[in-house]
Amino acid sequence: MDKPVRNQPQQTRQMLQPSAPASIPQPIRSSDGAGGIDLGPRDIMRDRENPDMFVPPATDAGLVPNLKFSFSDAHMQLNQGGWSREVTRRELPIATTMAGVNMSLTPGGVRELHWHQQAEWSYMLVGHARITAVDQNGRNFIADVGPGDLWYFPPGIPHSIQGLADGCEFLLVFDDGGFSDLNTLSISDWFAHTPPDVLSANFGVPESAFRTIPPEQVYIFQDAVPGSLESQRIESPYGAVPQSFTHKLLAQPPLVTPGGSVRIVDSTNFPVSKTVAAALVEIKPGAMREMHWHPNNDEWQYYLTGQGRMTVFAGNGAARTFDYRAGDVGYVPFAFGHYIQNTGTQTLWFLEMFKSDRFQDVSLNQWMALTPIQLVQDNLHVGAELTDALRKEKWPVVSYPGFTYKSGEGFLPK
Ligand code: MN
Ligand code: MN
Repeated sequence: MDKPVRNQPQQTRQMLQPSAPASIPQPIRSSDGAGGIDLGPRDIMRDRENPDMFVPPATDAGLVPNLKFSFSDAHMQLNQGGWSREVTRRELPIATTMAGVNMSLTPGGVRELHWHQQAEWSYMLVGHARITAVDQNGRNFIADVGPGDLWYFPPGIPHSIQGLADGCEFLLVFDDGGFSDLNTLSISDWFAHTPPDVLSANFGVPESAFRTIPPEQVYIFQDAVPGSLESQRIESPYGAVPQSFTHKLLAQPPLVTPGGSVRIVDSTNFPVSKTVAAALVEIKPGAMREMHWHPNNDEWQYYLTGQGRMTVFAGNGAARTFDYRAGDVGYVPFAFGHYIQNTGTQTLWFLEMFKSDRFQDVSLNQWMALTPIQLVQDNLHVGAELTDALRKEKWPVVSYPGFTYKSGEGFLPK
């Protein structure tokens, strides 16, 4: 039997050669030589995906909880008609304020009629869906949504989602980290757990009308693609809901700055969205979401395209860097400082979401620009070179010609 590789001196020497293939990352920081070769069992694909976890910047230190979970590490709920997976407090324990569900519905696939205690905010990623809802005053809402559109269902309001001819995939966000989409109140579940004579008495029809109801919760099912919106219109004697449950976020004019753009949506421009505020952020290659924090609540993130890294500053010497790519969830505790860098060659798009009626952020740059200059200079031991460059206007995404950051410095050899 062959001895393990690590007991073969010649092979070990080869592994320790700095001329090891560049594609095999090693936990050695190139700037100061800290670390050493990883000789043991390892998941190289994972190490490659997390270069800043594997070789943290020298400025990372202290105890910061895990702030990343990928939907690719979440259980897939497969049904006829679609699938779903979720990142909640169970997967990412720090995420107490919000939970997210990634769902896909086939053409005609239905997320059944249901409701829940939490508000539901959603962003359509791909394809089209028809959503329906009825409020407490009997006012209804039926609409079609497409890529870049949002919807919001207030807590307790019953609703449904159905894939149209091209099917769809979307992100759902709930204003409670303990939420699970597999633990909602659904119409089939209630029917299945109500005696037939009660159903008969409630609806004024014979018990035989309920002979074929589903024996348990349906959750997602395959149906035919629905007809046109016009063909499905139902007139309510009480009219439609007074505040639209949808909003066209991508159609909204962005705030454009060098390096990217931001679209902010909260109860000021999407009035029904009383408990979820969000920003859709674009960071071009080489640009970064500036150093900032939020004075209102934790931030729940979803990465849409590209790849990047976020460093979170927790105070008292603690900072930690996480790598993200499309499909990952990030989280930032209330008021912790952070910035996000695009580390790839594609544009990085991501969503920042908050359990709040308003989007709020504090810019480090703007704060310093609006504070007496002498105070800033004396506090930080800096001169006019910095303070003259401060901006009184907020630039959420920045990119300055000639000023960039190091990327992937831990991989040997250079
Ligand atoms: Mn729902
Ligand atoms: Mn932020």
